[in-house]
Amino acid sequence: MANKEAKHPQNVSGPFYCTDPENPNGEGCTACTICYAAAPDFFVSDEEGYAYVSRQPETDEEFTLCLEQLEECPPQAIGNDG
Ligand code: SF4
Repeated sequence: MANKEAKHPQNVSGPFYCTDPENPNGEGCTACTICYAAAPDFFVSDEEGYAYVSRQPETDEEFTLCLEQLEECPPQAIGNDG
C-alpha cells in the first residue's frame, strides 16, 4: 500500500498521489513509466522519470482509469487515500 507520508512533492492535492522514490518503506516510484504512458492526463513524469499526479479524476471513467494505474503499479507507489 502506498505510503501517504512519502508523497512525491509535485502531486496536486486530492485523493490520488504517487510516492517519492525515496519512500522509506521501499514502495516508492521506480519510474517504470506504466501510469503516465497509460493515463497521461493524470500522471506525468518529473525530470528524472518519476511519476506524480498532475490532475485528479472527476468522472467515474477518469476515476476508473486512475484506479487501474494504482492496481498496475509494480511497487504499489500509487495511493488514492491522500
Ligand atoms: S506505475 Fe508506479 S512505478 Fe511506474 S511510473 Fe507510475 S508510480 Fe512509478
